[in-house]
Parts: sequence; C-alpha cells; structure tokens
Amino acid sequence: MDIIERLESEVRSYCRAFPTVFAHARGAELIDRDGRRYLDFFAGAGALNYGHNHPVLKERLIAYLTEDGVAHGLDMATDAKCKFLEAFERYVLRPRDLDYKVMFPGPTGTNAVEAALKLARKVTGRTEVVSFTNAFHGMTLGALAATGNAGKRAAAGVPLGNVARAPFDGYFGPDVDTLTHLAARLADRSSGLDAPAAFIVETVQAEGGINVASAEWLRGLARLAREHGALLVVDDIQVGCGRAGAFFSFEEAGIVPDIVCLSKSLSGFGLPFALTLMRPGLDAWKPGEHNGTFRGNNLAFVTATAALETFWADDGLCDEVDEKGAIARAHIERLASRVGGRVRGRGLILGVACDQPALANRISREAFELGLVIETAGARDEVVKLLPPLTIGSDELKRGLDLLDEAAVRAVRAGPETRSPRAPRVNGHRLGVVS
Ligand SMILES: *Cc1c(COP(=O)(O)O)cnc(C)c1O
Repeated sequence: MDIIERLESEVRSYCRAFPTVFAHARGAELIDRDGRRYLDFFAGAGALNYGHNHPVLKERLIAYLTEDGVAHGLDMATDAKCKFLEAFERYVLRPRDLDYKVMFPGPTGTNAVEAALKLARKVTGRTEVVSFTNAFHGMTLGALAATGNAGKRAAAGVPLGNVARAPFDGYFGPDVDTLTHLAARLADRSSGLDAPAAFIVETVQAEGGINVASAEWLRGLARLAREHGALLVVDDIQVGCGRAGAFFSFEEAGIVPDIVCLSKSLSGFGLPFALTLMRPGLDAWKPGEHNGTFRGNNLAFVTATAALETFWADDGLCDEVDEKGAIARAHIERLASRVGGRVRGRGLILGVACDQPALANRISREAFELGLVIETAGARDEVVKLLPPLTIGSDELKRGLDLLDEAAVRAVRAGPETRSPRAPRVNGHRLGVVS
C-alpha cells in the first residue's frame, strides 16, 4: 500500500474506500495479499456480472493467447472480431428482433457515450442534448457534460455546454409526472429548451442512487423523442448484460432505442470493451471519423464471445437474476425497515437509501471490516448499493446479505458519521469516488 500512497496520484479512489492490496479473485470473492477473503458485492462497478476469472472465459482466453491469436490489431478484421460479431448477432440481436449496426469506439464506457452523442448531433444537425438529473455517463468532456454530479463536472476546467437537464422519473416524488413537464417545455417555443439532438438516459441510474425509471415513463420518453425528431440514446453500460434481468435493461419496457451504449460487463472478464449500437439508418459515419488505437480489443472479443455462448444461449441467467434479486430484495427490505431507509432497484442492482445519508458510508466501511466489499451511490452517497456478480452462488449471496446485516447493526450502534474517514470530501463530494 505504501507505494500506492507515495506514487499514485491523489485521483485514486476505490483503493481508498477498500484499503487492502488484493492479489487474487475468483467468482464472487476477492483475496488480499494476506490471504484475507472478501465477498464482492461491487463486482467491478458492474464490469464483472459473471464474477472474477470465470473458468470457461479464462480457458478460452488462455487458449487464444497460446496459439498466438492477434492481441492488438487496431480495428483490422480479425478472426476474433468476426466470431464476436457472429455471436452478438446470433445471441443478442436476432432473438430480440433488433436491427442495429455495431460500432467499436475506444474500449471504455465514456467513449461509447462520446460516440453516441457525436453521432446524434451529426445525424440531426442539432447541438443540444437532454440528459437527466442524477445521470452518470462518464468522465470525458462530452459525457461529463451530460453527467449530473456537480463535483465531477467542476473538474472539467472548461465550460460544459450543449446539454439541457430534465428531471428523471420520480425526481419530484411519486405524484409528479416529470415527462409532462418535459413535454410542455418542448412544445413551447419560448420555454428556452430547443429541439434536442437526443435524449440520453439510464433506465436505472446506478451511480446516481439506483433510481429506476418505470416502463411507462421510458415508453413516454421514446414517444416524446419521436415526436420531436430527437434520438433516444440508452446508456446501458452498467445495467445492461443481464444486470437488470434481460440482456438489455430496456427490453422490459418494450422500447427500441435509436442508439445504445454498452461496456462494463460486455467482455465478461473485466477486459476493456465498449460498443455503440445504432439503427442502420443512422450510420452516417465516414470511415475513421471516430477513430482510436484500441478499438477492437481482441482479447475482449474472445471472452465476450465465450460469455455470450455461455450465458445468453437461453434464459437461464435471466431466471437466476430474478430469483436472486427477489431473495436479496426481501432481505434488504427487512434491513431497511430496521435502519430506516427504502429499497430501490431492479434485478440484481439494488440499493438501500438510508434516511440518515451518512449511515450508508458507515455501513460500507463496517462491511469491509467484516469481509464484504460494497459501495455507496447517490448524490449524497446515501445509498448502499448491492451489485453482486449475477453468477453468485445462493450460499454466498446469503452470506453476503448476513454480513450486510451485521455491518448495519454495527453502523447504527456507532452512529452515523458526518464525513467518510476513508476519503476526504471536497464541496460535499467524496474525493475521486464515482457517485
Ligand atoms: C461506468 C459508466 C460509464 C462510464 O464508463 P467508463 O468505462 O468508466 O468510462 C458511463 N455510463 C454509465 C451508466 C456507467 O455506469
């Protein structure tokens, strides 16, 4: 840890929240240098839906390396790329009757968002994009402009423009229909809100506090986009790949976005990989117009293909998410009523929004001491966020939930903190920690 504190920039974040040196990881477990085992209810912020080092994916990756498969090839045609596209078409697009073209931006989520926003502006000839309160879309300037968190945006150092903010579903409580408000502003030529190139939305705001948009709200948003000639962009980076149940989180609502961003669990193995999907009619790119050296991470193609074959040939994983989600939800409903809070979420992204915001960080810290890695989310870090691997065993899930109970008991006993002891706060934001 010394070398990290001495040499690594102050920008580091999660190593402050979980202060140990991890050496190994398997399934739902992280193991530190001293051999201490931690259950992982964070799963790489959603990049490890199938757990750490899944044996089938690992074997395919090792075999590919052993036979000197192409590791880096810019975006040249490789065998690994062809196989990935074939698998994506076969297991994801065709069964859902989806017609998308597939773009490989740089291999991070924020790059998939940049590509989506660029394309929406290019296709519509409009500059304004509507994003929502508490949204999180990434850290590069375009995506950052669409992100809600003021602390994150302040770090840009330049004005972030061309994004108009609208209230997310439920922002003003259950009695206010936020879409009516947005529709009225769009219909009024004097509202100050110009016709946007796109709406960019998360169906479940993960970093923003596990805020779930209802299916009805999402359908209304899709309708509104159509009416105003704006594109609907769904950022499915964190809650896609089965996290909310289905492969795409928007399937439940029965909508078909114009553009979809995927990353995090797409490679299945925690390797960097991102996609921007677009309706074929929108593919207005010129060759090389959104270029990048690491577009087409061939190692990620290999593990992503293996993940699609292993988990998406049938509905088994979706059923598991439903089952485990119901178990976890019932458990944390009891927890929430004990500590004072409300449960939020869908599938296996669940949260306890604490009535006393500071309690959430305390619970996370106590959990870590007990051997459970779990993060917080929300504008004030007030939500304890459960994000276990989707493949977690029932026994491990139960054990993790019991540890969470124990952590909550200790946190309540110790009393809420006004500030996190692990990460200093600046302007009310925990430094460097995505929230
Ligand atoms: C993580 C995340 C991003 C950014 O992805 P990076 O790989 O960190 O750039 C964008 N949108 C959502 C919803 C995310 O969860």
